[in-house]
Order: sequence, then C-alpha cells, then structure tokens
Amino acid sequence: MADKKVDSGSESDSTEEPVVGNVNKFAVVPPGYSGRPKKGHLIFDACFECGNLGRVDYITEYEYDLFIRPDTCNPRFRVWFNFTVENVKSDQRVIFNIVNFSKTKSLYRDGMSPMVKSTSRPKWVRIPAKHVYYYRCPDHRKNYVMSFSFCFDREDDVYQFAYCYPYSYTRLQNYLDNLEKKNMDFFSRELLCLTVQQRRLDMITITHPDNLDMDEVRHTVFITARVHPGETPSSFVCQGLIDFLISNHPIAKVLREHIVFKIVPMLNPDGVYLGNYRCSLMGFDLNRHWLEPSPWAHPTLYATKNILMELDRNEKVIVDFYIDIHAHSTLMNGFMYGNTYDDIERYERQSVFPKLLGANAEDFSLANTNFNKDAVKAGTGRRTLGGCLDDNSHCYTLEVSFFSYQTSASSSSLPYTEEGYMKLGRNLARTFLDYYKLVNFITAKPSSSIVPKPGAYRSGVRDRQHERSQTDPTVESYEDRRRTYNRHGDFGINSCNGFGDPPTSIRLQLRDRDMRKY
Ligand SMILES: [Zn+2]
Repeated sequence: MADKKVDSGSESDSTEEPVVGNVNKFAVVPPGYSGRPKKGHLIFDACFECGNLGRVDYITEYEYDLFIRPDTCNPRFRVWFNFTVENVKSDQRVIFNIVNFSKTKSLYRDGMSPMVKSTSRPKWVRIPAKHVYYYRCPDHRKNYVMSFSFCFDREDDVYQFAYCYPYSYTRLQNYLDNLEKKNMDFFSRELLCLTVQQRRLDMITITHPDNLDMDEVRHTVFITARVHPGETPSSFVCQGLIDFLISNHPIAKVLREHIVFKIVPMLNPDGVYLGNYRCSLMGFDLNRHWLEPSPWAHPTLYATKNILMELDRNEKVIVDFYIDIHAHSTLMNGFMYGNTYDDIERYERQSVFPKLLGANAEDFSLANTNFNKDAVKAGTGRRTLGGCLDDNSHCYTLEVSFFSYQTSASSSSLPYTEEGYMKLGRNLARTFLDYYKLVNFITAKPSSSIVPKPGAYRSGVRDRQHERSQTDPTVESYEDRRRTYNRHGDFGINSCNGFGDPPTSIRLQLRDRDMRKY
C-alpha cells in the first residue's frame, strides 16, 4: 500500500516520493488511535478494475485529503479517480479535498462535479455543483484543489466516487460477447493482438455479408476509441454508434448495405483496466506514437495501424473516414479536430462532415470544431493517418465534453448523461448516410427523399434537416428531439440525486476558507 508515501503534486518538486499504488481497504483513523476501526472510521478502497486513489490523509474527523494515483510509469498525469468508501455512520458529514490534480484548467470551473453511487442506489449521479469548490489552495503549494462536501446517509451502503461515468474493459468484453451470441450475419469480431498484460484488442466489422466478397470496391469507415483510458465518454459514444449500426433502423440497414464499418472500441485496454487517465501500462501517451508504433511498446497501435495501412493499400478498399473518439476535460459540447492541408479542395471537402453532424446532433458545436497542424498534436492518430492514408480520406478526432453541452436554443448548459453520450454516437452513425447521399454514393430507398439539393450544406444545414424530417418519417427532427429531452428532463445535476445534502455548516466551513473560486 502506498498510503504513507507523499506525492509532490508538482513536477518541479523531486524531493518527495510519488504515490505508486492504490489504497487497499485502507481505514483512516484519527492520529494516535489504535485498535479496530470503529463505525465512522472511513475505509477507502481503489483495488478494483479502473480504480484510482493513491493516498488518504486524515485532516479532521470531518475532512480528508485525497491523492490521485498517477498513471503507471508516468507521474505527470493525475486526473482520473474512482474509489469506494465504506464503514460510514448514518448522517456522517465530510469534506473530501482532491489535492494533486495535474491539470489546472478544468470543467470544475464551469459547474462539473464528481459522480457518486452507492450499493442501494446503483445509478451514477452527479454531486450537486453547489457542494463542489475548485480553487488554488495555499495549503497545497498553491495546487488546484477540488473540494466537495458529502453526507453519508446509509450505514450499510458502500459509496463509490468517480471523475466521470466509468466504462471498464470488462464491460466492453461483456458487451461484445453478447453481440457475438446474437449471431448477426452482418457483425463479426476479431482479435487484432494481445496487450502487454494479455488483454484483447478487439476489432469489429459491421456490414452486409455480401460486402465481404472482394469483387467490388468497398467504401470503409474506420473508427477507434479510448486511446486515452480516462476518457470514458468516448466508450459511451462508441457503444451508441455500434448499437445504432447493428439495429433495425432503416438508416442502419442502408448503411450496412453500402458501407463497411471497422471499429476498434478500446485502443488502450491495459490503461483502462489500471485506472490510468492518459497512458498505457508502460507510461506512453499512445496518441503521440502513431508515426512509428513499436510492436512491443505500443502493440495495440502497431496492430491497428497495420490493418489501416493494409486496407489503404488494397485496391478494392476505399478508406473514406478515420475517426478517433476522445473526451475533453476543459471544453463543452461534442466537436471535431481535423487537419489543414495545402490542397484547398481537400481542406474544404473535410469541412463537410462536421457540418452534417452539427445538423444531426444538437450537442455538436461547429464553433469548437477546428482544423490545425499544431506541433503538439504530431503523432496523434488524426494527424498521422491524415498524412499517410489516401488523399481522399477524411481523418478527424471527435471530442466530447466530460461534462456538458450548450445548444444554440438555450444559454444554460446541460450535463451529459450516459444516454446523452450514446445519442451522440447514434447521431454520428446517421450522419454517414447524409454524407454518402451528399456525394451521391447512396441513393437507395428508404431515404431517397432525403437527398439534399446540391450545395444545400453550404446554405444552412438546419434548414435542410428540417426539410428532410418532413418527408422521411424515419428521421427525427431536431425539434422533435429537443422536445423529447425536455419531456424526460433526466439531467441529474438539477434534480434531487437521492443522497443527503451536507448541512449548511459544512458548506460554510468550505466557503469561509481562504480560497478563490476560479
Ligand atoms: Zn484524448
């Protein structure tokens, strides 16, 4: 156990030893106390899949400093946390301070809050933002600290706290196992390689079986997700995409008839399993190693890039899209990054898909979407593959906020739910139909009525979408979907989350400190 070690929380301070392991059923007792922990002596644990908590310091009976365990072999990254607390007393009120974040800019400034669930209330909810404070703390060498107050209300419950909705390697494996059991003739799963710790790198293919016969040229869409293990929203987006593509929805059927979808849903299974935020087991940020992936140090990238290059070389395959799904820790909404090219026509062509996605997904922001060739992004999937795939291919990073989105219709922001992330995945899927209709590759029914007029995407995608929804009953309009969101109103932050509120005195205690809210 690493709880006696001290994390510097700062790269420049090398005199202190780093936190290296997760706390393991660690009972935090007052100084000088010996003997068995009593009820109310909190027991912290992070020794489970995707768990992360490196150390807990007792400050007072009401307050604890918590240290994130840095990524394995890379102490620079400390953002993801996921741990349980048990042995609580009913009505026990606490303040938890997470004191060693490696980032300073954060959506905590914009109202993001940690997730919580408990054994008797297994649905994740966000702690109300009014109980969360993010500030520069004089007690922690001016590090940014996120403090939240919480009231434990049920003695027998185990409480779990996390940075965002967890999505584990095991969850993905169970999901894929279940899909395989359905024996769908348009779905297949293959093992691309094993990771350093012998986990599976899966690739699934979704297409009409006739498309696997290689006599004709096939258009291919290649999607990857979760190269950054803490970016759990990318897994929900990816699952939403897969769920839609294998569904009976008429758009999904048309897409399967015409397009081959290749999806690698988890590029960094070891990092996910270990509860890292950014890196692989060996401490590599894999999204900086696409240029020359090593078969032993970055085996999942090596295998994925090989498949992509093989497809690119195959004369019967046209790789139209490579999209890598991520989550963003400081910006709101879904949005895309693309490349800039000297070829103006190529540059213009690649701006089309984000516009179409913006027309389908109310949470997608064109304002946040941008095209660049920053040096800091060299070695990313999007940059590298944009340079080595065929000139007609489109390479993007799809980002989605860890927290919330704003729509053009409302000035307030709506926190994402698991379902909200999956919906973005479904909207991504249906946008491929719009794209292939626009380029006149798909014209078949049932959605021939939705072929846009030439140049329509330039003159305002919303109008075209509205026009489309009037003629095609399978397409929900933007307004229909907005109404559905409003009716369900299931965005946890504004609703009662079922957990007890800490009393005003605890909140005041937090507020009265020497802190500045950023
Ligand atoms: Zn990322």
